[in-house]
Amino acid sequence: MGGMTAPLPSRTFQPVLERIAEELERRPGRGRPADYIPALAAVDPGRFGMAVAEPDGTVYGVGEWRQPFSTQSVTKVFTLALDLAREGDELWEHVGREPSGNPFNSLVQLEYEHGIPRNPFINAGALVVTDRLHTRTGDAAGTLLDFLCAESGNPQLSFSKEVADSEAAHGDRNAALGHFMASYGNIGNPVPVLLDQYFRQCSIEASCADLALATGFLARHGIRADGTRLLTRSQAKQVNAVMLTCGTYDAAGDFAHRVGLPGKSGVGGGIIAVVPGRCTLCVWSPGLDERGNSVAGVAALDRFTTLTGLSVF
Ligand code: GLN
Repeated sequence: MGGMTAPLPSRTFQPVLERIAEELERRPGRGRPADYIPALAAVDPGRFGMAVAEPDGTVYGVGEWRQPFSTQSVTKVFTLALDLAREGDELWEHVGREPSGNPFNSLVQLEYEHGIPRNPFINAGALVVTDRLHTRTGDAAGTLLDFLCAESGNPQLSFSKEVADSEAAHGDRNAALGHFMASYGNIGNPVPVLLDQYFRQCSIEASCADLALATGFLARHGIRADGTRLLTRSQAKQVNAVMLTCGTYDAAGDFAHRVGLPGKSGVGGGIIAVVPGRCTLCVWSPGLDERGNSVAGVAALDRFTTLTGLSVF
């Protein structure tokens, strides 16, 4: 199969997933789980699951693809889409869409860029998006959870109070980002209210199957699982583009080089990715590299696009 470039028919997704899992099994060195959120530190870095969903909701998986894990920053794709659907282009006056070239929790650009974060996926930008979604809905985290339950078809998805509390107890850096942006007038809610929403958002637990399905609207150019439209085709393109350029932070160039797909990582070890019009993927393995991206997750997506020839390029 190596070297094949023509897209394969979908019935071959299962063997491809099994081959990737087998290859990764033999690969040593899987990074370390995030330890700045103590509740995440105890997870075994060797765990692995991967799922592929087709636009019609057919899903394939391997390994622990039905095991719920801490979604963390993967949720930032969904809050972006939910807010963009409500407010449209005005959002882009409050958050940019340029790669930051800095770590996800960095403060450095915020002062000289007057409290406007570079993009919606670094923590500063995600806080702005959640703040704006909260203003519009009165419950950003609840709106997000309802959306994920609906799109995945899994009503059991939930917040982890343990993870949210653990992050809140070690949340000085996110609090600093929130207060700093509030000083520029770029946060509308009281910062403690925003942080509570943001930590609950990040604490949602879902499996690879759930997230691959929930990402389906981005492969369907903005259409939700029930056939209604969330985003215009153009907005779906915008979300995919910002995932490609900013979804893995200061490793986005390397991710595009290796994987060639819009993708979004989280420090729980999950990564979602989109092949527009074709399928969505989610891979989970909690061992992270120094930029906060799953080592086995990036490797698995790299192998997937290499083996199948499915990529946006
Ligand atoms: N909750 C994490 C944080 O704010 C999310 C970061 C991530 O997944 N990259 O630090």
